[in-house]
Formats: sequence, C-alpha cells, structure tokens
Amino acid sequence: MKLCVVVLGAGFGGLELSSILSETIGDRLDLTLIDRNESFYFGFSKLDVMFGRAAPDSVKIAYRNIVKPGVQFRREMVIAIDPIAKRVTTATRTYEADVLVIALGADYDVDATPGLAEGGNEFYSFHGAERLREVIPAFTKGHAIVGVTSAPFKCPPAPSEAALLLHDYLVERGVRSACEISIVMPFGLPIPPSPDTSRALLEAFAERNINFIPKRLVRAIDPSRHVAILDDETEMPFDLFLGIPKHRVPDVVLASGMTENGWIPVNRANLETRFPQVYAIGDVTSVGTPKAGVFAEGAAKIAAASIIARLDGDEGSAPYSGAGSCYVEFGQHLVGRVDVDFFSGPKPTGSFTEPSEEIVRDKRYFGSSRKARWFGI
Ligand SMILES: Cc1cc2nc3c(=O)[nH]c(=O)nc-3n(C[C@H](O)[C@H](O)[C@H](O)COP(=O)(O)OP(=O)(O)OC[C@H]3O[C@@H](n4cnc5c(N)ncnc54)[C@H](O)[C@@H]3O)c2cc1C
Repeated sequence: MKLCVVVLGAGFGGLELSSILSETIGDRLDLTLIDRNESFYFGFSKLDVMFGRAAPDSVKIAYRNIVKPGVQFRREMVIAIDPIAKRVTTATRTYEADVLVIALGADYDVDATPGLAEGGNEFYSFHGAERLREVIPAFTKGHAIVGVTSAPFKCPPAPSEAALLLHDYLVERGVRSACEISIVMPFGLPIPPSPDTSRALLEAFAERNINFIPKRLVRAIDPSRHVAILDDETEMPFDLFLGIPKHRVPDVVLASGMTENGWIPVNRANLETRFPQVYAIGDVTSVGTPKAGVFAEGAAKIAAASIIARLDGDEGSAPYSGAGSCYVEFGQHLVGRVDVDFFSGPKPTGSFTEPSEEIVRDKRYFGSSRKARWFGI
C-alpha cells in the first residue's frame, strides 16, 4: 500500500515538500499536488514585473513540467477541507488522504482598507504588479507612497525594496527630482530582527531622500482627495500609492475551522496541526516566522521529515529552527542578504551581508536551483 498524501497549494512550501517526498519515498508514494493556477512564480518576480524589468509571462513556470516519481499535479480549485476525515473537495472531485498538507499561502483582502481598490494600487498580487506596468510610467511628478496597511505581511523587506527600485526607475527617467518617495511601515525599523540590515536600509533611504515613516499603518485611502489616512489619523497626499494589502488565509481554510486568530496554529516541532496527520506549512500558519518563501521551504523540510519518519516507524526529526536567508534589492542593480534565525535562541537574531554583485548572482542561483529542483528545467 502506498502512502496517500494530498498537498494543497503548489507554492514554495507545497513544491518543496512534494519534491522531498518524491526523492525519498517516491516508490511508496501516491501524492496529489493541487493548485488553482497553471503556473508558479517567485514572489520577488512581482517587483521585476511591476517595474518593467521582466515580462509577466517570462517569470511564470508551468506546473505541467512537474514529472516526479509518486507525484501527480492537478489544477483544481479547493473548495472544502475536512481535517478530521482528511478529505478535500475540489470543484471537480473529492480526495481522501492518509496525510494532508495545507500549503495554501496567504490571500489578500484589498477591501479591508477603505478606498484602496478605488484610489490606490497594490503590488502583492501578480495581477496588481502587472497592472502597475501601465500606472508607474505615468508617474512623473508628485508624491509616491509605499504603504503597508496591515501586519503580518509577506516578505518584510519587499516594501523597502519597492521604494528603492522606484527611486532607480525615476532616476533613469530623469524625473526623480520632481518626485517625493515615502514608505509607511508598522515596525520601528525596516527589518526588526536585523539591526544591521535595518541600518543599511535606513542609510540607503537617507542617501536617496526616501522618507521612512515607522510604526504606522495606512488605515484608509480617500480616492477623491488622493490622500492616505494613517492609523494616527495623519493625512498624506499622494499621486501614486503602492500598497501592501491586508493578508488573510484563503476562504476555504477559514471555513475548514482550522484557524485560530486568523491563521493555522501548528506544532513547531513538526508542523502538524491539532488534527492528527494534517500538516500546515508556510504563510497559512502562525508558526512565528515571517511570511516568506524561504521559511515556507524550511517548514516543508521539517514536515516532510516527520511524514517519512512516521512511515518508517522512526523517531521524529530535528525541530524547526525558523532560520532562513532573504535577498534584499538595494537598487543600483545590487542585492544584499539578511540571514535570520527565529527559534534557535531566546530571541530572533539576524545578520547582514552588504549588497554586492556576488549576491546578485546568489539570488539568481536561488531562483534557478529551485526551478531545476521543483520543475526539472
Ligand atoms: C512582492 C513580493 C516579494 C517577495 N519576495 C520574496 C523573497 O525575496 N524571498 C522570499 O523568500 N519570499 C518572498 N516573498 C514571499 C513569498 O512569495 C511567499 O511568502 C511564499 O510564496 C509563501 O509560500 P507558501 O508555500 O506558503 O504559499 P504560496 O507560495 O503563496 O502558495 C500557495 C498556493 O496555494 C494556491 N491556492 C490558494 N488557494 C487555493 C485554492 N482554494 N485552491 C487551489 N489552490 C489554491 C495558490 O495558487 C498558490 O500557488 C515575496 C512576496 C511578495 C508579494
């Protein structure tokens, strides 16, 4: 009898977990990987798309490339999850699993910020980033705001990266001096676990005349007056608003009854939920790491090890350290890196590697190695 595993979501977490299980127990595996989309894209490619550095189709990797022992990809919309029966319903069929893995990521609730849909833009969805390709070129003077509307949000460096890349974009077009850039962030520092990365970002903002507004969220947009209203009622007029929308679990996860305080709680040792043999990994959880691909991937490794250990009747695996490296676009074609570790010590720690061309190459390898590992191309 093969182990029947159903993995919901073929993002960073789902792809990594499926790859490990296939590599390790492919001959004893009957794994179905389900996603509503026909292709994968890295989160960071949205920055390339919005600033016209890459064509939208060029960053998409089709799931039909997945050919792995014991793994079948299905493009279907998940519409119901029963974590007690380990049963999943999609728009076309029902699946019963021995082991169920929820890796459905975080969705966006644009309507949670009044006026954002009508008067602003967001660059966190692929569609939002694609739409901005038409909007950003029309911005040649005035005030641009990169604004976070709610926490937690994916990839904490991304708002800072967007502000720095916008600066470059405006410089290249010769209009930077006619434009002001502000960034509104809920934290006191751009990357709280890493004071060195934060210092480097604050220096980069100061050198480029980017206004950093800490400890604030954008509460609402007034589309008629082109004003962003912060959570302390400060009003900031803008000509271009690049928003980070409120994040939430997908509706199907909320309806499954698996969430507490908005996200799925998991056992940090093995990423299992309170439902036996039901795991949750990545952005959909409240495990305590930032919502980023590297952490979804790290969680996938631990959950996969636990699934394999149980199948073989072994003891559990090493606990999840919550460690990962994030690349940070500093503009001027340079990338830095922050290495963070959330669970090894009494509090999160982070170290910083200065932006360089070497790290540009590392980031490129990060993408190409995942593409090769997950898709064989
Ligand atoms: C602008 C930006 C820049 C980023 N840069 C980085 C970076 O440099 N490094 C980094 O590590 N992270 C980065 N991220 C974050 C990263 O993209 C996410 O944190 C990561 O993708 C989370 O992985 P996941 O597996 O939890 O979820 P996801 O990768 O989001 O995958 C979830 C999958 O579930 C599918 N799904 C959802 N609901 C359903 C349903 N009902 N039925 C079927 N399928 C469904 C989705 O289609 C999706 O493919 C960035 C994000 C953004 C927005």
